[in-house]
Amino acid sequence: MADQSGPGRFLKNFVVRPGGPQPTSRESVEKVARTRGTTVTRSVCPYCGVGCGQLIHTREGKIVEIEGDPESPINRGTLCPKGAATFQYVVNPLRQTHALYRRPFGDRWETVSLDWAMGQIARRIKDTRDATFVERLPDGQVVNHCTSIASLGGATLEVEENYLIKKLLNGGLGILSIENQARI
Ligand code: SF4
Repeated sequence: MADQSGPGRFLKNFVVRPGGPQPTSRESVEKVARTRGTTVTRSVCPYCGVGCGQLIHTREGKIVEIEGDPESPINRGTLCPKGAATFQYVVNPLRQTHALYRRPFGDRWETVSLDWAMGQIARRIKDTRDATFVERLPDGQVVNHCTSIASLGGATLEVEENYLIKKLLNGGLGILSIENQARI
């Protein structure tokens, strides 16, 4: 039976290799990359027009890691902080899954149904646009614009979402002030 005390106990955690024990614990030797054995799907970062390549690692249908694609000629395995955090956006227990509403002069958020929230947004946009839409300037020039509503996008809006926002708000409703925190 192996000596479990003194030097014997200490050395049992070391791996014997040609040339003698190495200063590496068995636990370290047996560790593998968390992406070992995953299914890899090649994709493109959704967040901006640079189009960095990403590798989506899944195990049993669940995403376990998202990293830069070393074979992409765009980013060669690198990702900016936003792209590198894609996994946290997708898999995150803190992610909000309900619409929240704070009433005028309210001091707390209330959970509301998505239908109610969407109805409120649509109602307020329509009322504001109806009240302030300008078809022509005083000199007769046609402008068809609405300068009383603005849109400020966030970094996690995807390319497709930004396209739809621009198409609906600008082309559809005549809103001019459309901005996004991420500009590339
Ligand atoms: S957000 Fe960052 S990682 Fe994503 S495509 Fe743009 S530059 Fe690349």
